[in-house]
Amino acid sequence: MSPEYKQPAEEERRQLVVDQLRELTKRVETAERRVTQVENALCAVAQEASDVSVSHACNRCEKSLLIVRNGSMRCPRCNYSRSM
Ligand SMILES: [Zn+2]
Repeated sequence: MSPEYKQPAEEERRQLVVDQLRELTKRVETAERRVTQVENALCAVAQEASDVSVSHACNRCEKSLLIVRNGSMRCPRCNYSRSM
């Protein structure tokens, strides 16, 4: 015999939302930390490679930062490029 579904009380629903928000906050904080770690590592790698640096996000695809090299910027995702 399966138990009948009961509509959760208002307080239970509120608690569910609070739990979800807490979980989402945790995930956003983890993602932000990860982005900072990747940015820091990327900048360090770019500095170690000669004549390479990283610029702003690609306006065309928004999936990568632009790589600056030999006086031109290129997106490694969509291959957009322009000289500086
Ligand atoms: Zn792009």
